[in-house]
Amino acid sequence: MRKETICVQAGWQPKKGEPRVLPIYQSTTFKYETSEQMGKLFDLEESGYFYTRLQNPTNDCVAAKICELEGGVAAMLTSSGQAANYYAIFNICETGDHVILSSTVYGGTFNLVAVTMKKMGIECTVINPDAPDEEFDAAFRDNTKCVLAETVANPALVVLDIERIAKIAHRHGVPLIVDNTFATPINCNPFQWGADIVTHSTTKYMDGHAMTVGGAIVDSGNFDWTRYPDKYPGLCKPDESYHGVVYTERFQKGAYITKATVQLMRDLGSIQSPQNAFLLNVGLETLPLRMERHCANAQAVAEYLEKHPKVAWVNYPGLKGNKYHELAKKYMPNGSCGVISFGLKGGRKAASDMMDHFKLAAIVTHVADARTCVLHPASHTHRQMTDEQLLEAGVAPDLIRFSVGLEHIEDIIADLEQALACI
Ligand code: PLP
Repeated sequence: MRKETICVQAGWQPKKGEPRVLPIYQSTTFKYETSEQMGKLFDLEESGYFYTRLQNPTNDCVAAKICELEGGVAAMLTSSGQAANYYAIFNICETGDHVILSSTVYGGTFNLVAVTMKKMGIECTVINPDAPDEEFDAAFRDNTKCVLAETVANPALVVLDIERIAKIAHRHGVPLIVDNTFATPINCNPFQWGADIVTHSTTKYMDGHAMTVGGAIVDSGNFDWTRYPDKYPGLCKPDESYHGVVYTERFQKGAYITKATVQLMRDLGSIQSPQNAFLLNVGLETLPLRMERHCANAQAVAEYLEKHPKVAWVNYPGLKGNKYHELAKKYMPNGSCGVISFGLKGGRKAASDMMDHFKLAAIVTHVADARTCVLHPASHTHRQMTDEQLLEAGVAPDLIRFSVGLEHIEDIIADLEQALACI
C-alpha cells in the first residue's frame, strides 16, 4: 500500500460487526479466565494485554500504522517525544556507556542526553553532523552504543546525510537512531538509507493540530544485535527481571521494541494515553495531505522572504541556494517540512518588534501545527542570553522561527507583509 492508503487504512482492522473507527480502549486492565492464562502473559510465553502501562490495543493500532509508514518491523508509542528518545537510547545503554550526539538536535534532546543521561553515568560526545568522516571516526570509543541525529534539525534545519552517518555508525558496530519528527515518514524514510531506529515527537506533524503530546519509536529490525552480544547484553543476555528471557532469542527482530515495552515501559511508565493515541490516529489519516500543503506553503513563504528588502537571510532546505538543498533533494524529494527561519536587517531589536505585529501567525513555543506559528528564540526560549551567548548556542539573535501552517498562502504572506511594514 502507498503511504496515503496506509495513513487511512492501516492499524485498526475491524472484523464483522466491530466499529469502523478505531475504538478508545479506555481501560487500565484486561480480563482473563484462568490463572494459567494470566501467568503465561507474565512469562512472555503468550502475547496479550494485561495492563495499559505496558500495552493497550488503541495504542498498538496506532503504533502499527506508524511502523508501516516507516517500513519497520515493530513500533511503540510513548507519552512524549522526549520519552521516545530517552527509551530509544536507554534500551541499549547503561551506566559507563557512551553515545554520539549530533550538535544540531532539538534543545530538549540535547539536555536529555548531555545533561540528564550524564547524571545516569552515560557520557556523550557532541559532534557537528557535517563533520568529516575522520572526525566522526575519532569520536567512537569501545563503549559507544549508538549515534543519534535528526533528519531535519529543529530549529537549525540542518539536513542529515543519513546514508553517510549510517555507514560510519555501522563500521563501528553501532546503530544509527534518527529522530524523524520534522520530515515525517511522508517525506523521508530513514530506514531506506541505513538508519536502524527511528523516533518521533508525534506532538508535531503527526498529530498536526497541537492537541496531544506523544512520541513513537520504530525499529527497522536490520541491526544485528547478536553480532555484538557483549556490547548489547540487555538484548542478548538473560533478563533476570523476566525469568532469564533473552530478547534476541525469543523475539528475534522484535527484540528491541519488546524489551523497551516489557522492561522500560514496565519500570519507567511513560505511556501515551489511549485518548491521545486516538487523536494521533485522526491526525495521521490526513498527514500526507497536510505535509504536501505545509511544504508548498513554506516554499512560497521562503521565496517571498528571500526577496524582501528588510530580510537579511532565509534558511529553508527547499531554497536553491541553501547549503542543504542537494541533501534535501536526495532524502526528501517531495519537500522537507513546513518550518523555516529568517533574520532581519534590523537585527535582534527588529525581530523582537516584529513579533507584536503578526495578526495571523500566533506566538507559541510549538511548531508543526495546522495554524501558522512564530517564535523569536532570543526574546522567548533563549531570552536570558546575550548576543554572544546566542551565537555560541547556534541561535542567531535575529532568528525568527516561522512554522508555516495550512492557511491560504496569500493570507500567510499578507500577514508577513503587514508585519514587516511595521518595523
Ligand atoms: N524531537 C524533536 C525533533 C522535537 O522538535 C521535539 C520537540 O519539539 C522533541 C523531540 C520532543 O518532543 P515532545 O515535545 O513531544 O516531548
